Amino acid sequence: MHRSIWLVWLTIVLVACQPIAVPAPSAPAATLDEWSEGTPGVGDPIFPLLGNGGYDVQHYTIELSVDVMRNEIMGATSIRAEATLPLRSFTLDLLGLTVEKVTVNGAPAHFTRDGQELTIVPIAPLAASVLFTTVVTYAGTPTPIRDAHLDFVEQGWNRRDDVIFVVSEPQGAMTWYPSNNHPTDKATYTLRITVDEPYVVAANGVLREEIDHGARRTYTWEMAQPMASYLTTVVIGEFVRITEATSLGVEIRHYFPPQDADRLTQIFATTDEMIAFYGDLIGEYPFDAYGAAVMPFPLGFALETQTLPIFGLDLATEGVNAHELAHHWFGNAVTLASWDQIWLNEGFATYLQRLWLEHKLGREFLESGMRRYYEMLSAMKTPAPGMVDAQNLFSISVYERGAWVLHALRLRVGDELFRQFLRTYYARFKDGVASTEDFIALANEVSKQNLTGFLRSWIYDETLPPIPEVSQSFPASD
Ligand SMILES: [Zn+2]
Repeated sequence: MHRSIWLVWLTIVLVACQPIAVPAPSAPAATLDEWSEGTPGVGDPIFPLLGNGGYDVQHYTIELSVDVMRNEIMGATSIRAEATLPLRSFTLDLLGLTVEKVTVNGAPAHFTRDGQELTIVPIAPLAASVLFTTVVTYAGTPTPIRDAHLDFVEQGWNRRDDVIFVVSEPQGAMTWYPSNNHPTDKATYTLRITVDEPYVVAANGVLREEIDHGARRTYTWEMAQPMASYLTTVVIGEFVRITEATSLGVEIRHYFPPQDADRLTQIFATTDEMIAFYGDLIGEYPFDAYGAAVMPFPLGFALETQTLPIFGLDLATEGVNAHELAHHWFGNAVTLASWDQIWLNEGFATYLQRLWLEHKLGREFLESGMRRYYEMLSAMKTPAPGMVDAQNLFSISVYERGAWVLHALRLRVGDELFRQFLRTYYARFKDGVASTEDFIALANEVSKQNLTGFLRSWIYDETLPPIPEVSQSFPASD
């Protein structure tokens, strides 16, 4: 996520998966008392009801017919999951909409709804470790979540003018499909969306198929690498698809409003060079495709929806593109383990955005910018980046002091070890999640120093720590 209020400095520069035939456990090994109800949340410190325990999703197939003018959806989501406990029942997160039918392994299942919890009771319990497929058929008008703490965004499925776009961080995925709605359960996705002509559908991953039905058209998108539910998106509108030359085999396709396409094509022309820069610094780009979906109106934010970040027209800039692209390594491939650790997403993306500017404009530019933010943070009363709650999930401290955690580590250990740290952290946690404790342990491991106290003070102390002495291995300023 990137919010417009942080732009002060930046503006200087520039399946249908068929249900798998899993036999119902006719002679289950567990006795009746051992069957679990699953749990209605995974215990996130900020959002305790998000996610669900007892199973691990492998793949979602979301098949929806969308009436853009009426803002109505109708269809089904198929969820292939593995039971991690013997389950008599389990829950999915879904808010609003009307559920018409639920099946588990092809057989009708009983279901009840309570707030965001959709509780499903299959006709036969599910033994631990079995793969099972749940199909939820539903319809209605999705209602985005309005959270008083995050008043700059309506989370989930949004319709404005003739455009539909999905921006879910942190909770909104459950406004348009049932899911295990927590970053700890990543899965692959197929998104099959049917709309009236002349609307175009963009979504996560690679466009695999387009079927013309005359007045309607079906688009099938495939996200082949694991994705957290908050990063799923669908964009529907009268967009033009602009493809950019690529040097690394990553498909670059942007979706721009027709009237702004020429100007935006110029702004986003450095995308290929950025992918190469970050790839060289951190490790190979994790996904098959990348591109911006720019809305024909301002939003006041941009969001790193996987392979297809959403930009308000007001934030369609090279600097914000560097931020959203950087999230694809840190945030999307390596994902935060819980929402109170969001500095791991935003601190990395903010600092890596600065490294792109350093690459273009030099070390002195980076240092003077970091010093300005240090002074700004010193003068403000903000919580430490590791001490956030729902109210300051996207606070300046999460971004700027989060970036300072990384800069302080770099100053302390020197450029060589810092680079090694970035590469190792990415390689080790790619396709999964990482926590602040993982971050600190790896910094100790790579540097062969005990940096626990040093890093904890940057992450958790109320008072901003002093800028560290520059390491001996730090190269002279250019
Ligand atoms: Zn961000």
